[in-house]
Amino acid sequence: MRTVFITGASSGIGAACAAVLAREGKYRLLLCARRLQRLEELQQQLHEIAPQCETYIFELDVRNAEEVEQKLQQLPAEWQSIDVLLNNAGLSQGLDPIHRGDIGDWDRMIDTNVKGLLYVTRQVIPLMESSQAPHIINLGSIAGKEVYPNGNVYCATKHAVDALTQAMRIDLLEKGIKVTSVDPGMVETEFSEVRFKGDKERAKNVYQGLTPLSGIDIAEIIAFVLSRPAHVNINDLLVMPTAQA
Ligand code: NDP
Repeated sequence: MRTVFITGASSGIGAACAAVLAREGKYRLLLCARRLQRLEELQQQLHEIAPQCETYIFELDVRNAEEVEQKLQQLPAEWQSIDVLLNNAGLSQGLDPIHRGDIGDWDRMIDTNVKGLLYVTRQVIPLMESSQAPHIINLGSIAGKEVYPNGNVYCATKHAVDALTQAMRIDLLEKGIKVTSVDPGMVETEFSEVRFKGDKERAKNVYQGLTPLSGIDIAEIIAFVLSRPAHVNINDLLVMPTAQA
């Protein structure tokens, strides 16, 4: 059994990855996010669909370096060895030109998508020491490959994730840790609602004219990435809805 640690597991892609990996019967799941109640609901669902899958949930705000350090160091002994880190927690807030951007939104995106990913990775690498198949998967984005109108700071954070994925691959080569970036186009999750601060109408309009990806689409791809033999690493995967330009 490989232990997979998923950040941002309370909704969207993270929750879908938990469901898909639980069903595979090869993984135990360590799941975190800020909304503990959502994690409890997910844990219950996982128990129903895959009763054999061991899970451990805990509340974590990845933006808080001290909290990340403490909570990971205080994991129960049987959860202190991690094989796979899925750096999934992330968000976009606001979609405004740079001269009208909200500084609070910028801070939340940079603190979560870049600094949070770094804090978690820094603490998890020592927990991978005894793993036979250590692997870090970062959730990048099409926004980390190109810049779209008003995407400014979110795109910058995902370009940073792209750079950090490349850097991790170089730095962690000697430890035998695989590093992969999975970069989706539009995925229908709570992402749009968070971006538009709860404006459901605006969030829904984003998908007009195309069928977006689902969280499950991305989760199945991540399961495939994890199923490759030891000598094969998928470095970078761009996954788009067929109809997205
Ligand atoms: P969701 O909003 O559905 O999920 C985001 C998850 O991140 C939630 O579980 C949320 O949990 C968690 N999260 C946010 N902030 C924090 C924090 N400070 N600490 C811990 N957890 C946090 O969106 P998606 O599932 O779509 O997003 C997942 C990843 O995929 C993100 O990195 C996103 O950038 C990326 N992505 C999404 C795309 C899309 O179109 N949806 C496209 C390309 C990439 P909680 O609020 O409980 O803390």
